[in-house]
Amino acid sequence: MRILKDIDRQTFKDRFTTKEDCYFFLAELKWHEGYSCKRCESGMHIKGKQPASRRCSKCGYDESTTTGTLFHKLKFGIDKAFEMLYEIVTSKKGANSIWLAEHFGVNQKTAWLFRQKVQIAMKSSEQFPLEDEVHVDEFEIGTPQKGEQGRSKSDKKVRVVIAFEHRKGKSGRGC
Ligand SMILES: [Zn+2]
Repeated sequence: MRILKDIDRQTFKDRFTTKEDCYFFLAELKWHEGYSCKRCESGMHIKGKQPASRRCSKCGYDESTTTGTLFHKLKFGIDKAFEMLYEIVTSKKGANSIWLAEHFGVNQKTAWLFRQKVQIAMKSSEQFPLEDEVHVDEFEIGTPQKGEQGRSKSDKKVRVVIAFEHRKGKSGRGC
């Protein structure tokens, strides 16, 4: 699989230990080209309600880091969702929803829907056309080897994909 290469589970867990790690990570990914309010396009923001969310200083619109991502409005914690994403992307068969439900203590439909979202995002990153415009961001997590300077080819890296959907006048599929 092109998206995610071998990385050990522990490295992934260390990177995303708390919910805040996940939120701040998403914020970084989402606004790395700068902040612009979705409602009024102002570029000024203050801290929002949730960890790492941003509130427009002009109109007050508070945008959560999960808006428009795979992690929006999930019925389980974002830290759990990150772990689940790891399992789905690393498993050869995409981890079946029965196993996911049992392992993560969620119901099977919830697991199935999340898995579905992840797979759509993965496909769209491979240039399959989708109904809506989806901007896909991929991120890499490297594990630098001890005693080496900088990065080398032997670094294990994991690539994970997160989709940002742009829907006009639709509230999305929900789950
Ligand atoms: Zn605004």
